[in-house]
Amino acid sequence: MLKIDLETPISQLTRVGQTTARRLKKLGLESCRDLLFYFPTRYDDFSNILPIAKLFPDTLATIKGKIELIGNKRSWKKRMIITEALVSDKKSSIKAIWFNQPFLTKILKPGEQIYLSGKVDYDYHQLQFVNPSYEKIKKEQTHTARIVPIYSLTEGLTQKQIRFLIKLILPLVKEINDWLPWAIKKNANLTDLRTALRQIHFPVHKNTLNKAKERLKFDELFLIQLNTLKLKQNLEQAQAYSIQFKQKETKDLVNSLPFQLTTAQRKTAWEILRNLHKARPMNRLLEGDVGSGKTVVAAIAILNVILNGFQVAYMAPTEILAKQHFDTLTKIFKKFKLKIGLLTRTYSQTNSRQKIKKARFARKARQANLLKSIKEEKINLILGTHALIQEGIEFKNLALIIIDEQHRFGVEQRRSLKDKAERIPHLLSMTATPIPRSLALTLYGDLDLSIINQMPKDRKTVITKIVPLEKRTKAYAFINQEIKKGRQVFVICPLIEESDKLGVKAVTSEYQKLSKEVFPHLKIGMLHGKLKPREKEEIMKKFQANKINILVSTSVVEVGIDIPNATIMMIEGAERFGLAQIHQFRGRVGRAQYQSYCFLFTESDSFNTQKRLEAVVESRNGFELAEKDLEIRGPGQIYGREQSGFFPNLKIASLTDYSLIKKARQEAIKILNQDPQLKKYPLLKNQYSQFEKSVYLE
Ligand code: ADP
Ligand code: MG
Repeated sequence: MLKIDLETPISQLTRVGQTTARRLKKLGLESCRDLLFYFPTRYDDFSNILPIAKLFPDTLATIKGKIELIGNKRSWKKRMIITEALVSDKKSSIKAIWFNQPFLTKILKPGEQIYLSGKVDYDYHQLQFVNPSYEKIKKEQTHTARIVPIYSLTEGLTQKQIRFLIKLILPLVKEINDWLPWAIKKNANLTDLRTALRQIHFPVHKNTLNKAKERLKFDELFLIQLNTLKLKQNLEQAQAYSIQFKQKETKDLVNSLPFQLTTAQRKTAWEILRNLHKARPMNRLLEGDVGSGKTVVAAIAILNVILNGFQVAYMAPTEILAKQHFDTLTKIFKKFKLKIGLLTRTYSQTNSRQKIKKARFARKARQANLLKSIKEEKINLILGTHALIQEGIEFKNLALIIIDEQHRFGVEQRRSLKDKAERIPHLLSMTATPIPRSLALTLYGDLDLSIINQMPKDRKTVITKIVPLEKRTKAYAFINQEIKKGRQVFVICPLIEESDKLGVKAVTSEYQKLSKEVFPHLKIGMLHGKLKPREKEEIMKKFQANKINILVSTSVVEVGIDIPNATIMMIEGAERFGLAQIHQFRGRVGRAQYQSYCFLFTESDSFNTQKRLEAVVESRNGFELAEKDLEIRGPGQIYGREQSGFFPNLKIASLTDYSLIKKARQEAIKILNQDPQLKKYPLLKNQYSQFEKSVYLE
């Protein structure tokens, strides 16, 4: 027989033909190493072997017995072949039946000893096995009488096949060298890699399986932590401008606001200012619910940077928001005489009156003019969309980048912003997506976190209700009343069809329904991804001016704009959204003195849906909701598919393995402190560099 090693292609193994090889390749399995690291997704515990006399209906069980009889027959409808066997142990016997597997009579012969594992059913007053797993008695069982691994498969492959192959190559485990340093295994109480690999596939016991899982999860999380910590290290070695705190002007700014800062705003602003003072690039994520007042906190940072003589770039996810920030910040900074610019596809303008007058000439020229001003530092603060950074804008001395709702923004991207001074700008990311601390630590371990965990105290609670089908009419009547009082309404539609990515269909059909059937007398507007920025802008302006009563929109379209007069947020197909996302929608209303409402429309009466939606009714805390969702649905779902690229592709670990994440982080910090280049650990270093490459390719 051929000598196999870890790199041997699976196609060279016995019993693997071209078809099977092709199917395995679909699962990403090409070499024996791939197979070894292809972990089961779950297990059936068939380890408890019982005498037949002790079986109970509706339980999973394994028996050991002798085949007394076995034969095929046609079912009464003649559509199926049924194999029936009678199996007995010393004291009693039980029937087993299989559907459409006539070949069984060739494999299993009367007189043979076998194991049967499966569910015990109760039929016509007797117990029986239906489609049980069967296996002749061997030195060691693979498919029965043990904890049996279940792998994720693709069409045409069977569990038996893949178990057979993995069992075949399992001895190759001894060629794997454990790359985790001994001290870490000891500190974190982890089993060694070879044992873990053997036990993850064919565990001898629940406990050894759990130890194996823990070890392999740790490996995955540990590499991610090493990666984020290394990114952090790199930043710590880079140079940035040190920003001196301008106490007097900061006080002036704060005192000029029409409200008092919340404690959380003060605290986070101070964290940011202290961070900016260091000559190392800041890398900070500011998290806070919609409406918690992140903009003012950012404004404090901006003011300090500009008063130190540097420039700031502020990026928003959409043009509408960039424009809104431009207006807000122009107002906030009025008495400081800062030069503020707005640069997007449709806008190129500044806050200086003189420039606006000149702004009659063509857009291109206006834009060129603005770019020149930025380069010559005639502009202190430039606002734009995320595209701002891709335009190759040259700054004179950019010292701070603020970026709204885009979590990942790498060191490389920062470098690419052409900055003459060759220093890396500080970065402040802001998000209303409540990423639990544990998750943030895993995903963005290189970021420092500031959390605004408090809302301004004048905010009213938004009354939240789940509206079942039969209460829809009542809800519509209520909406009608509110509109009569002069208030406005948001309607959010979920995307129902995969093909309707821009939400045109979903929004249009809801729009038709509302404007033709439900509210024919009202003015209804719609917003979806297919509209041009100008058109969106137009609609938002109308909505802002209360020329539209009801705005029907997808979730992808930016509704982040402030509409204090809107008091109802109505969400169709609420079960299709993440809880944290619903919570964010809810934050769009309740922004003025009026009592506001959030109606969750759902036609699903599944227990799970009800439970999830009730959590939104009960909780006002985005973080709490995100944690809940994380447990129920997993991160990819919560934060939207379009963002899922942010999440590491975890094979075995889960982002809710909090304590393990913490352990992995501790150990990663320790080892990097001790040996930043991992020189003493060549195996680990090698494993890490492979991981780094794979992250880069993602
Ligand atoms: P977000 O965190 O969603 O970006 P904004 O910064 O847009 O929130 O603030 C939302 C609204 O709350 C704005 O109108 C802002 O002026 C107001 N605001 C901010 N801080 C406070 C505060 N401490 N007290 C009262 N209102 C505030
Ligand atoms: Mg904001």
